[in-house]
Amino acid sequence: MAYLDILNLQKSFGANRVVRDFSLPIDKGEFVSLLGPSGCGKTTVLRMVAGFETPDEGAIRIEGRDVVPLRPNQRNIGMVFQSYALFPNLTVAGNVGFGLKVAGVAGAETRARVAEMLELIGLPEMGGRYPFQLSGGQQQRVALARALAPRPRVLLLDEPLSALDAKVRVRLRGEIREIQRRLGITTIFVTHDQEEALSISDRVVVMNGGVADQVGTPFAIYNQPATPFVAGFVGALTPIEATVVDPRAGTVSSGGMVMHLGRALPMAAGTVVPIALRPESVRLGREAGREIVLPATARAVEFMGSVIRIRAEAGGQSFLLDTFNRADAPPPQPGEPVEISFSGRDVIVI
Ligand code: ADP
Ligand code: MG
Repeated sequence: MAYLDILNLQKSFGANRVVRDFSLPIDKGEFVSLLGPSGCGKTTVLRMVAGFETPDEGAIRIEGRDVVPLRPNQRNIGMVFQSYALFPNLTVAGNVGFGLKVAGVAGAETRARVAEMLELIGLPEMGGRYPFQLSGGQQQRVALARALAPRPRVLLLDEPLSALDAKVRVRLRGEIREIQRRLGITTIFVTHDQEEALSISDRVVVMNGGVADQVGTPFAIYNQPATPFVAGFVGALTPIEATVVDPRAGTVSSGGMVMHLGRALPMAAGTVVPIALRPESVRLGREAGREIVLPATARAVEFMGSVIRIRAEAGGQSFLLDTFNRADAPPPQPGEPVEISFSGRDVIVI
């Protein structure tokens, strides 16, 4: 049985159906991300789990017990928001111990727990500081410590890294994941950043218009996107419209080019099927094992450092390709003729 079970949640604000039939069973200790564009209902799902919104329909069970009738402070859930929302007039120790004090935990135990939490977030000497004396990343770690201090059963994180600059964001996401693993706490993490979701989650839920489009491991979401929305939202790709030639042999054609996908297709010959290629599956030049070679023209070249992303055009179709930087070989210029190659086996069928 799932430790945290979200069942058929529905939520409307007036005529706006924000969450539609949302179900998600989560195992104990699992780290699950809700990923989707702004306005798709991520925060609303989290607020229903926390108890700040009441679902119109559906159930939320923790260890088998429906928590929907319980008030937020009766659910034993910790939450961290995008804005650190620390109490500005309280010290770091006062902030971290706040929930324990409210719950009537004795002073000595509160002090011990606060020290333990500050140790956990790597700020053991900072208890006497005030929030304004901390960097954004430190404030967000304190917010995490405050959420974890009452030893909640579930941790909810709503875009906790969005207000931080890029380097801090990447470091802190690793720290959050490590702390979560160490405590084994069941966690839902909300983000609109696909790289963030893919990099730290056990499973990712891709949300689109209040619906969970796909739930799966980061590997499955990226390599086997279930819908065009998921394919387009998670990672870059080249969409191609193809027609099935021989479903059993796994052959499709597109603009006169025949591709052998190396696997059978569950649709009839003549069916139009959306397929796609990830940029890392397309190579500049010929390479062994890449049977499709196309003469192309480089159209756009983005030098990103270790990776160079090129948009090349071949036969009226645009292809994205990523190539690693090489100090001894400058990338092609826009307008330059190039050859690109790929294998039908790397084609994603959506
Ligand atoms: P996300 O977190 O994915 O950006 P939200 O869950 O915050 O999305 O919002 C989903 C939709 O619900 C948005 O259209 C938003 O305007 C609307 N919404 C959220 N909260 C309320 C509210 N309290 N009253 C009315 N509309 C709301
Ligand atoms: Mg939100």
